[in-house]
Amino acid sequence: MSDRLPGFSTLAVHAGAQPDPTTGARATPIYQTTSFVFNDADHAASLFGLQAFGNIYTRIGNPTNAVLEERVAALEGGTAALAVASGHAAQVVVLQQLLQPGDEFIAARKLYGGSINQFTHAFKSFGWNVVWADPDDIASFERAVTPRTKAIFIESIANPAGSITDIEAISTVARKAGVPLIVDNTLASPYLIRPIDHGADIVVHSLTKFLGGHGNSLGGIIVDAGTFDWSTGGKYPMLSEPRPEYHGIRLQETFGNFAFAIACRVLGLRDLGPALSPFNAFMILTGIETLPLRMQKHCDNAKAVAEFLAGHPAVASVSYAGLPSDKYNQLARKYAPKGAGAVFTFSLKGGYDAGVSLVSKLQLFSHLANVGDTRSLVIHPASTTHSQLDDAAKVKSGAGPDVVRLSVGIEDKEDLIADLEQALGA
Ligand SMILES: *Cc1c(COP(=O)(O)O)cnc(C)c1O
Repeated sequence: MSDRLPGFSTLAVHAGAQPDPTTGARATPIYQTTSFVFNDADHAASLFGLQAFGNIYTRIGNPTNAVLEERVAALEGGTAALAVASGHAAQVVVLQQLLQPGDEFIAARKLYGGSINQFTHAFKSFGWNVVWADPDDIASFERAVTPRTKAIFIESIANPAGSITDIEAISTVARKAGVPLIVDNTLASPYLIRPIDHGADIVVHSLTKFLGGHGNSLGGIIVDAGTFDWSTGGKYPMLSEPRPEYHGIRLQETFGNFAFAIACRVLGLRDLGPALSPFNAFMILTGIETLPLRMQKHCDNAKAVAEFLAGHPAVASVSYAGLPSDKYNQLARKYAPKGAGAVFTFSLKGGYDAGVSLVSKLQLFSHLANVGDTRSLVIHPASTTHSQLDDAAKVKSGAGPDVVRLSVGIEDKEDLIADLEQALGA
């Protein structure tokens, strides 16, 4: 055996998996079972008391899901991960470990529309108060810090315009405030950006998008970087204080640099219940095997489409960080040198009506609310995902009335450009 550390593409195929010890099956089997037989009464007691690792019940853990968790942890450079039913479930489970009612977290204003909704309305009903900051103005994060701030939440490549966030600068603010930095890495995937290398303490994903990659399975995941000290000042009692559910153990003391992932599993997933189906874990694992190939093609196609649109007379502007003229191009070169992702926006000279008309004329691009599919997708955010925001908030979050969002797929780029050409010209 060589002592070379495996590269990213090797990890994407192999990390966490081995031939099934019972049957020799080479692909990871779908362990479609709710529960697992204990060896004996002592074994059962030690599993329930967190004294031994093992399978109890699929709401808490499952062997197919465990391969997915190990694989994404390896790709992101984290210590451990927890798979859940969706990207939104990942966000709830993470914040439940960090916030008590009345606490605050700071979030970048440029986010997936569903996250803006979740943070504004659902989380408010839990007493978790979001304070918005502008990812293009690092000082706005510093100004937002109060004694009740428990976390900072950003996207690495931000919806909908594909803007690049200065993760290192915001991680410096988080460090100074003594709170963890949570990065939603959905649009980049670890192939383009590994937020932990830039100071993130927790990474979350909607696996539904580029990691699964084929538009067929919902999932979410939480990756623990193992970097944050949860014991300071009693600020994170879920991690630092004795847990009555588990005979008074303290998670940080017992589990060290993967205590956060354990808290998410044994306090979050166990009690809130958004478990990932093993079938979906299998589909997403299969998708991840080709992540490096797909992501590169997504990025190369997106750049070609962005260049075409930038030269088209009906287009007012293109926001794609991979274009040298883009205001995020410097940050893209630093954080995402292999490509600036495949989700971006452009605006039409004809405004709202032209946006609505374009999405109805496109044929190869599917008009729907998703990103990160092999297929190319289009949406007009102002009339759909961001329609609940008022006009000023739409513009601030990059979803003004004239804006169209693309998620460029892995088809032949000439066909994608021809489709846009007929729809813009007609
Ligand atoms: C889709 C998405 C989510 C939510 O994920 P679901 O799997 O749909 O719950 C969160 N963040 C980003 C950036 C997304 O694109």
